[in-house]
Amino acid sequence: MTGERRARAKQYERIHNWLYLGDIVLTLGILVVLLWTGASATIAQWARTVVPNPWLHVPLYVTVLVLGLKLMFLPLSYVVDYRLEHRFGLSTETLTGWLKDQAKSLALNLGLGVVVVDVVYFLLRQFGEWWWVAAGMFLLVFGVALSAVYPVWILPRFFKLTPVEDESLRAKLTALAQRVDVRLLGIYRMQLSDKTRKANAAFAGLGRTRRILLGDTLLDRFTPDEIEVVLAHEIAHYKHRDVARLLAWNALTVFGGLWVTEQTLTRALAWFGFTERADIGALPLLALCLVVFGLVVMPLNNAFSRWREWEADRAALAMTGNADAMVRALEKLAEQNLADPEPHPWIEFLLHDHPSLGRRIAFAKRWAGA
Ligand SMILES: [Zn+2]
Repeated sequence: MTGERRARAKQYERIHNWLYLGDIVLTLGILVVLLWTGASATIAQWARTVVPNPWLHVPLYVTVLVLGLKLMFLPLSYVVDYRLEHRFGLSTETLTGWLKDQAKSLALNLGLGVVVVDVVYFLLRQFGEWWWVAAGMFLLVFGVALSAVYPVWILPRFFKLTPVEDESLRAKLTALAQRVDVRLLGIYRMQLSDKTRKANAAFAGLGRTRRILLGDTLLDRFTPDEIEVVLAHEIAHYKHRDVARLLAWNALTVFGGLWVTEQTLTRALAWFGFTERADIGALPLLALCLVVFGLVVMPLNNAFSRWREWEADRAALAMTGNADAMVRALEKLAEQNLADPEPHPWIEFLLHDHPSLGRRIAFAKRWAGA
C-alpha cells in the first residue's frame, strides 16, 4: 500500500468509526425519548384500541415503530452506505439500486421483527418472570433456522449467486478440498461488483445449505494461488464448525442479555409508567437493555470472532503451505477494500471482528520463516 492510499484508508476508517458512534448515540437517544415522552405508551394504547387481541396489536405496534425508525435512520444510512462509499471510490451502486436494497431489507426486517416480537410477547404474557428462559430458547432455534436459510433464501435476494464455473480453478479448489478431506457442498460466485469494488469471501449456512461464497470482485482480481488460500481459510471455518460455535456463543450472550433485561425491567418499568412487563409499550425499554448489554459484550464477541479468524488463517497456511500467496491476498484485500492495515489497537480491540490485516500479514510472514 502506498503512503497516500494508507492515509486515505485511515481517513475512511476514522469517518466510519465516528458515524458508528453517531449511530449508537442516535439509537439510545431515540429509545430514551420514546419512553420518556410517553410516545411509545401512546402508540401502544392506540394499537390496543385498533385491535384488542395482543397477537394483532403487537405486530401493529412493531410495524409503526420499525417504519418510524427506518425513516429516522435513513439519512444516516444514506451517508454511511452510499455517500461515504462513493466518496472513497468503493461503491459501484446506483442510487436507485441502493434504494431498492433499502426497501428489501426493510421488508425483511419488518417480517422477521414482527414474528420475533410477537412470539417474545406471547412468552412474556405466558411465563411472567421466567419469560427470558423461554425467549432465549426461542431465539436460539430462530437463530439456527435463520443461519440455515440465509444463503439460500436471504442472500440471493441481494446478490446473484452462481456456482464457480472456471474449470481450472474448480479443479484446483476441489483438489484442495480433497487433500484436507472436506466434501464441499458448493462454491459459489457472488456478484458483488454491481454494488461494490470491495473483495469478500464467506462461509455460510448449516447442514445441507452450507456453502462457500467468493465475491466476483475477488475471483476476477486475485490469482488462482491467492484464491486458493482464501478458500482454504473459508474451508477452515467449515472444518472448525465455526457457524455452530458462533451460534453457541451467541446463545450464551443472548441468555445473559435477556436475564439482565428481566432484572432491569422489574425495577425500571414503573419509572416510565408501565405496570406489566408484557405491555408492548415497554418494548423500547427491552430494546434499550439489550442494546446496552450488546455494547458491553461487543469486545468479548469480537475477541471470540478474532480468535476464530486466527485459527482459520493458521489452518489455511497449514493446508496450502503457501504463505507468500496469503501475504499477497491480504495485501490485495487491504488495497482493494481500503482497509487500514494498522488500526489503533483500542479500536481493533473494541470494534473489529477480524484481526487487522497488518497483523495477519506479519503472522503469515512469521509462519513462512519458522
Ligand atoms: Zn474468516
